[in-house]
Amino acid sequence: MKIRQVDVFARNLPFLGGVYRLSGGRTYEGFDATFVRLTTDTGLEGWGESTPFGSTYVASHAAGVRAGLAELPEAVLGRDPRHVDRINDAMDERLVGHLDAKTPIDVACWDLFGQAVGMPVCDLLGGRTWDPMPLVSSIHMGDPEDMRTRVTEYRARGFMAHSVKVGATEAEGGPALDAARIAACLCDRETGEYLIVDANGGLTVEHALRMLRLVPGDADFMLEAPCATWRECVSLRRRTNIPIAMDELALGDETIAQIIADDAADGISLKISKTGGLTRGRRQRDICLAAGLSLSVQDTVGSEVAYAAILHMGQSVPSRLLNCVLDCRYVDTGGLADFDVPVIDGGVLAPDAPGLGVTPRLDVLGDPIATYS
Ligand SMILES: [Mg+2]
Repeated sequence: MKIRQVDVFARNLPFLGGVYRLSGGRTYEGFDATFVRLTTDTGLEGWGESTPFGSTYVASHAAGVRAGLAELPEAVLGRDPRHVDRINDAMDERLVGHLDAKTPIDVACWDLFGQAVGMPVCDLLGGRTWDPMPLVSSIHMGDPEDMRTRVTEYRARGFMAHSVKVGATEAEGGPALDAARIAACLCDRETGEYLIVDANGGLTVEHALRMLRLVPGDADFMLEAPCATWRECVSLRRRTNIPIAMDELALGDETIAQIIADDAADGISLKISKTGGLTRGRRQRDICLAAGLSLSVQDTVGSEVAYAAILHMGQSVPSRLLNCVLDCRYVDTGGLADFDVPVIDGGVLAPDAPGLGVTPRLDVLGDPIATYS
């Protein structure tokens, strides 16, 4: 089986909740999504997606994804998509870095692999656990009571984890406002719920220490991505007993290895497009398992295609180390694909159909913006 054609599609995904607010005054009203369809000489079609969180989240932006993708078809045309490590070697030889651009090709290869052998991707990644995976909400910054209300709404939909965003400027209320946000989002907590306090790298060490002093002493949460730099995060870690997860600083395999070498965190947020796809994600998963680091399996944002990839990777993580998976669709996908994953017993299961189990509707996605064959 060989890859015969690469098609690239683009679509804007408006944020459903108005304006999404992150630390550092960052705001987002929509997300620019890129999709890849790989077609093989056997007539199979595989899909992948890369949708950056704007251009101010990590070193990634939509135009860069598409510019990177333009470099890659020559590396993969004529290759067997089931040889996922060799596909990644070929992409790396053609283009250094740019993991966000390589992601949709890598994920589409796994989709093809699964379809070719009649197995869901999670089984190819090692076998599904059959444990329902807790879904994590994404509670962007707002007034504490507004954030508490949104946690309540997600709780009613069966979400068992909540990622609460903090990072108020001093003028907005600083560490005191952030501590109030944490307290508000924790106050109705039910048994089994998991709370992440996510600063997206937006705090100074001073802000983080002041905030942590102001939260109740028995507050139970994981602090994710407190500061922008490695030095700050390690400094904070030495001065607090709050468990810390890395996200924006946990990029390639080498940074996961460095986390372990420095004992810099207790877990990571593994985001498929940040990681470079499922092949690298699988490797990072295994490094984390070997070190006992917990995982939240996520993506930056995206449609049903990105969500499907998250679910398959998450389903291959032993549940004792899987904190949660993200339903990244806090955007209007316009019904891009039929993809109904019900929340049962506080969690979701990856689809059982061959491959990713999701196929975008071309009448919604429109014509390709580029085709390589
Ligand atoms: Mg995060």
